[in-house]
Amino acid sequence: MITATKPQPIKTKPGKMLIGGKWVDSRSGKTFETINPATGEVITKIAQGDKEDVDLAVKAARKAFEGGPWPKMDARDRGKLLARVAELVLKNLEELAVMETMDNGKPISHSRNADVPLTADTFFYYAGWADKIHGETIPVRGNYFNYTLREPVGVVGQIIPWNFPLLMAAWKLGPALACGNTVVLKPSKFTTLTCLRLGELIMEAGLPEGVLNIVTGPGETVGTALAQHPDTDKVAFTGETTTGKSIMRAAADTLKRVSLELGGKSPNIVFADADIESAIKGSLMGIYFNQGECCCAASRLFVEKKIHDEFVEKMATFANKMKVGDPLDPRTEMGAMVSQDQFNKVLRYIEVGKKEGAKLTCGGERLGSKGYFIKPTIFDNVKNDMKIAREEIFGPVVSAITFKDIDEAIEEGNLTEYGLAAAVWTRDIKKAHLAARRLRAGTVWINTYNAFDAASPFGGYKQSGFGRELGLHSLELYTQVKSVWVNLD
Ligand code: NAD
Repeated sequence: MITATKPQPIKTKPGKMLIGGKWVDSRSGKTFETINPATGEVITKIAQGDKEDVDLAVKAARKAFEGGPWPKMDARDRGKLLARVAELVLKNLEELAVMETMDNGKPISHSRNADVPLTADTFFYYAGWADKIHGETIPVRGNYFNYTLREPVGVVGQIIPWNFPLLMAAWKLGPALACGNTVVLKPSKFTTLTCLRLGELIMEAGLPEGVLNIVTGPGETVGTALAQHPDTDKVAFTGETTTGKSIMRAAADTLKRVSLELGGKSPNIVFADADIESAIKGSLMGIYFNQGECCCAASRLFVEKKIHDEFVEKMATFANKMKVGDPLDPRTEMGAMVSQDQFNKVLRYIEVGKKEGAKLTCGGERLGSKGYFIKPTIFDNVKNDMKIAREEIFGPVVSAITFKDIDEAIEEGNLTEYGLAAAVWTRDIKKAHLAARRLRAGTVWINTYNAFDAASPFGGYKQSGFGRELGLHSLELYTQVKSVWVNLD
């Protein structure tokens, strides 16, 4: 029986959007309900934005960019402000963690130890970059002095998903603001609360009005309006690959810059010479962290033939023992799927796996009768061309596949339209590095999984998107280069 801890009162301003420095209702006055996925109950109501609200937000962002203090401010002062945001996030860690867990369904231990601290870390990191973004002098032919200016792109639309709501906002806002852009942010309709609270904290830190605007509501209306808007200079998107494609199409008419962080079907390759205990631990964390609702989830588990059966059996034993349930219980290891839709989608894929003839080794069903909980699930004897091995399930479901040698592992691992992440587990350092080179993915982990740092780039190969977030690479997404020529004759 799953019992969720009593939900906490929400202190933020739900039902309002942030436009031009003010918390306002949607133009239509409409709202929608946000649900606690652990109970299926309504937490609160959120303003339902539409095209007119996006127009107002873009206008406010344009005004702040063209005439406001933000892009002209001393870069070090912009950095200081971002550092204040980071401090405020840490000061409000507990409130943000509880809010994130209630809205998303993830375990409170993850919100407390990953989502919120990493959000602060991202703002601290980009606070440090603000005054280190500069151009270069170039030794051109002729009697000229040529130099470059690295300038902000302008008004940026940012559209983020529901799996790490606060952290995805930080990945996008940190670099965009450090570079002096102004922003219209659109959180997922499933998880709006922490983004609104972050908006409050950012305003409390002293951000000038209009620099950050938040429009809440559905992707089909708010997201599309933002991607199509004639007066945004860039759209940055994280979400499903199919949505990314429609965003790129919508952005084409105005040729705005586009960066896309999309889905994945990451190969997690375990060689027989690996440290088996840590490979099992890492593989469990790789797939079940955040209920498998991770773009880089280790959803295809390739195990070398010699150890395959024993490895999968041990993994299933641990998976069966995982504590799934009340996300607000600090001992919980896996929480609820974010929504009824996502819950249904994952259960549908489990049925597909059974029909395709994969062997259900553990899990494969919902847990309890209330809330959107699914047991950690392992399918064995999976063929790489089965639907469950090709499509992103975005849930706690892993497909185990056997391989005989490194060539087969790499070939099959790369046999996917995605290219977000990959991992290899081996004690052979040469094999590990050779595999890392041959895997077509934006991140390769060796003897670890889900290692992240604000300083290290993250993004996709192939249909997992383009552009790199985090690290100095993200600054490329939010700046453009101007070449200035001075005649010295
Ligand atoms: P989604 O594509 O359904 O939605 C993402 C965002 O886009 C939401 O804010 C949504 O409202 C909006 N949106 C939906 N339709 C839109 C449209 N037609 N035009 C404009 N905006 C629209 O994705 P999701 O279900 O929220 O998130 C899960 C997906 O995100 C997974 O595919 C996952 O792999 C991916 N993801 C990728 C990364 C990465 O860094 N590569 C990180 C996290 C999540």
